[in-house]
Amino acid sequence: MSLPDRNNPYSFNPFLEWRSKVDYYADDHFLQKMVRAFAGEEAEEVDREAREFSRKASFRWRDFAERIATPERRPYMMHYDGHKNRIDRIVRPYEIEMMEKEVFSEALFSQSTSPWTRFVKLAILSQNSEAGVLCPLACTWGLVALLEKYADTPETLRILAHARDGIDGDFAIGAQFVSEIQGGSDVPANLLEAAQEGGAWRLYGNKFFCSAAHADYAVVTAKPQGSERVGLFVVPMWLPGDKDKEKRNGYTIDRLKWKLGTVELPTAEITFQGALAYPVGPLDRGVANVVGIVLTLSRLVVGIGMSSGMLRGLRECRKYAEFRTAFGLPIASFPMAAWQLEKHERLARRSVAGCFKLYRDFIALPGGLAPGLTTDEPLEIKRKRFDVRQLVMLQKITTAADANDMSRLGISVFGGHGVMEDFSSFPRMLRDGLVNELWEGPRNVLLTQMHRDFQRVAEWYPASECVASILRGADPGIIEGFAGEIEELLSVPHLFEMNARTLEVCERWDDFCARLFHAYQDLALAEAEAGPQQEEKRVEEPARG
Ligand SMILES: Cc1cc2nc3c(=O)[nH]c(=O)nc-3n(C[C@H](O)[C@H](O)[C@H](O)COP(=O)(O)OP(=O)(O)OC[C@H]3O[C@@H](n4cnc5c(N)ncnc54)[C@H](O)[C@@H]3O)c2cc1C
Repeated sequence: MSLPDRNNPYSFNPFLEWRSKVDYYADDHFLQKMVRAFAGEEAEEVDREAREFSRKASFRWRDFAERIATPERRPYMMHYDGHKNRIDRIVRPYEIEMMEKEVFSEALFSQSTSPWTRFVKLAILSQNSEAGVLCPLACTWGLVALLEKYADTPETLRILAHARDGIDGDFAIGAQFVSEIQGGSDVPANLLEAAQEGGAWRLYGNKFFCSAAHADYAVVTAKPQGSERVGLFVVPMWLPGDKDKEKRNGYTIDRLKWKLGTVELPTAEITFQGALAYPVGPLDRGVANVVGIVLTLSRLVVGIGMSSGMLRGLRECRKYAEFRTAFGLPIASFPMAAWQLEKHERLARRSVAGCFKLYRDFIALPGGLAPGLTTDEPLEIKRKRFDVRQLVMLQKITTAADANDMSRLGISVFGGHGVMEDFSSFPRMLRDGLVNELWEGPRNVLLTQMHRDFQRVAEWYPASECVASILRGADPGIIEGFAGEIEELLSVPHLFEMNARTLEVCERWDDFCARLFHAYQDLALAEAEAGPQQEEKRVEEPARG
């Protein structure tokens, strides 16, 4: 009970002071433990680099991310300059331009950056829940991987060098323009036309969802004239020498979309009117290349971002629940909150552990990602590729959903303050999380794709064996249960026929996929727990300022 006090002294400052001092990596013993458990011989070096990077991400870039997240600082278009020249300039706040420059200068996709350093830096950066830089990073990774496989002309080799290692200290930014107005999931239905004119390829038509529209280069899907098959092209957004003059390469940016989430990121509608484009890879294999390489990397980044973001959500939830009292008790001491926090702690930890485990398999693939479901490699490698392909999709849909649960819990623990955009990052995390569930393959598309993939490889990779491979090390009873279930769910040859049996299988398949990936994550967590034993503590009061 309390007496009236006209000078109510209540203050959030102790919580805010704690929050302002948290270093995402140095104060997170669990994240450090994951590095030790999964990065093998590189762990020590990765740990050193992560600490250095985290000091920037946790303070300077965090503040930038907070500042640019307000409605009045959203990117906007200036279509013309003062002399009636069409420039289609995307105006963004100074902070995002600085942050982008500094993050890209880390040369994350250079061959001099080890795969584990790249991964851990992406994970740390993701805790800012800021897509204005993270999305261009994901797209640039896709551009680099694609060109590493296919660049074979002076132009495409130069673009590769610009995006991977920088030219004169300038690191190029990539984008990927696939979705059209008639559909984003159905890439083979693309209508953008590629025409050969005077020995060069030029693009004509529209793309309806073009994020990172401020990029230097975009990977673009288009159909060569007269072909029903989609090809893949790289388009310089400005031709050499034209960027300073703001003269775009044969296209207009018609408008920026007004979005629920990822609002710092310019997502545009674009009309191509003869943009010069360079083909990459065989022109009848565009879908396989864009899905197998570019979208797979973006899906991986969504998985990294959502799982690492959960660590931040959990950390802030726990601390606030200790700080905030109701009825004279800290929120955390109410059993209703306590079980929810326990549950989400497990969710966050297994998501992060699963992400590390999957990344270890991913970087072990010989020659990196490959297009399509099958290659000429030995059976064992083909199967490993298939495992990774399915796990990347499973991770994308599972962590996106789980991370949104985490944000909902955060909002609930913060009570009414939870929905205040300037009180915590949870509203932004939830809004961005909803976008993460959609882009790079919405849940239903990926569920359908996986069901189809299993059918298509059945001759050389029975689904029960894939499940056993994914769950290697689990209790044999658990593996047997999942193996039996998947065989039964695949007895329906596809998920397109509208009947009672297919509807039932769809419902069960959705649930099965989530459980399968959670089982994989549990194995990863158990493996990490059994790793080098070091005492692990939660973030307490960090000492630094
Ligand atoms: C903020 C934002 C930024 C984006 N940025 C980009 C970008 O930079 N580049 C780019 O190319 N795209 C981008 N996209 C587009 C995104 O990839 C598409 O929205 C997504 O692929 C889905 O396409 P769609 O919106 O046309 O939905 P549709 O394809 O119309 O799908 C609608 C619904 O139908 C379901 N569905 C479709 N096909 C199937 C199927 N075979 N089986 C079962 N269900 C199915 C889907 O799951 C979905 O629920 C962006 C989207 C958003 C929201």
